[in-house]
Amino acid sequence: MVTCLRELVELESPSGNKPALDRLGRQLATAFETLGGRITFHKQESAGDHLQVDFSGPGKPVLMLGHMDTVWDIGTLAAMPFRVAKGRAYGPGIFDMKAGIVQAIYAIRALREQDGNLPRAVTVMLVTDEEVGSNSSRPITEALAKKSAAVLVLEPASGPKGALKTARKGVGGYHLRVEGQEAHSGLDPGKGASAVLELARQLLVIEKFGDRKRGITVNPGIIHGGTRSNVVAGESTAEIDARVSKLKDIPYLGKKFHSLKPFDKRCKLELSGGISRPPLERTKGVVTLFELAQRLARELGWELEEAAVGGGSDGNFTAALGIPTLDGLGAVGDGAHARNESVVVAELPRRGALLARLVEAIPG
Ligand SMILES: [Zn+2]
Repeated sequence: MVTCLRELVELESPSGNKPALDRLGRQLATAFETLGGRITFHKQESAGDHLQVDFSGPGKPVLMLGHMDTVWDIGTLAAMPFRVAKGRAYGPGIFDMKAGIVQAIYAIRALREQDGNLPRAVTVMLVTDEEVGSNSSRPITEALAKKSAAVLVLEPASGPKGALKTARKGVGGYHLRVEGQEAHSGLDPGKGASAVLELARQLLVIEKFGDRKRGITVNPGIIHGGTRSNVVAGESTAEIDARVSKLKDIPYLGKKFHSLKPFDKRCKLELSGGISRPPLERTKGVVTLFELAQRLARELGWELEEAAVGGGSDGNFTAALGIPTLDGLGAVGDGAHARNESVVVAELPRRGALLARLVEAIPG
């Protein structure tokens, strides 16, 4: 598994770099083809081609969902080479989520070696644009999920104990632009309408949209505005990260944002954006699936935990369609999107084994 992991990590695959993603896609296609999978590339103009692999077998397929793209540019390997030290493997994209792909390969391999055939149909979908919003892959992922009995997401596990993610927030962003009226701050102080002051007032209103208990957070992470200190600012903008725990809070929050009115009537507000990834809610279907995973993990000798997290994944899309989705089945490790990104090597086999057992045991 470590050798396979090394091969995948050393094929760097930043989002948006089509040649690099297609190279990794071909390598993975070969690996899955060797295991008897039927390869379909969903061709893309600018994104990498998304890879679908179908394994035939009885029943509705289980969909294993992951992504090939990473947040690391080509050349990162030079400063962050693949290495194994003190039981951990390091490298760009290793935790998020190349180790998860390795686990899927070995789970399928183990099932085949045991029975000669898969105990049921399995579809593996590896997209190339997850880290940049999954725009081109989302419809394909959703169509595959609708045909599946359950979705197993190969994203990293949560925390040092490798908890599965049974709830994820819905994620999106709003862009607010304020148009004011420029004026000389000394000669015509009363004349202008400051877009900076207007934005400052709006942000205090927006702050109140957040409701931690309800699982709604808003963060105006970036603001811009004005041109010079002696000019009443004519324009300002804010980028606001927004997250919700409940599907029904998407329209609620949208209404709040769209109710913003300028304090200074001479200013104009322009709002765009919204929640683009729905939340993964801990529905009955999700809980049933988690309890099954927990029982199977117990048979393998460990106590599986669950966690709710703020970040989104493609599992959010499939869960919002009502398909039972279990996320965080990938590697146990640390440092997603960070320099110390690493996975615990000893966890790879048993997480792979859990995946294989889930494929066998999920009904339908
Ligand atoms: Zn990821």
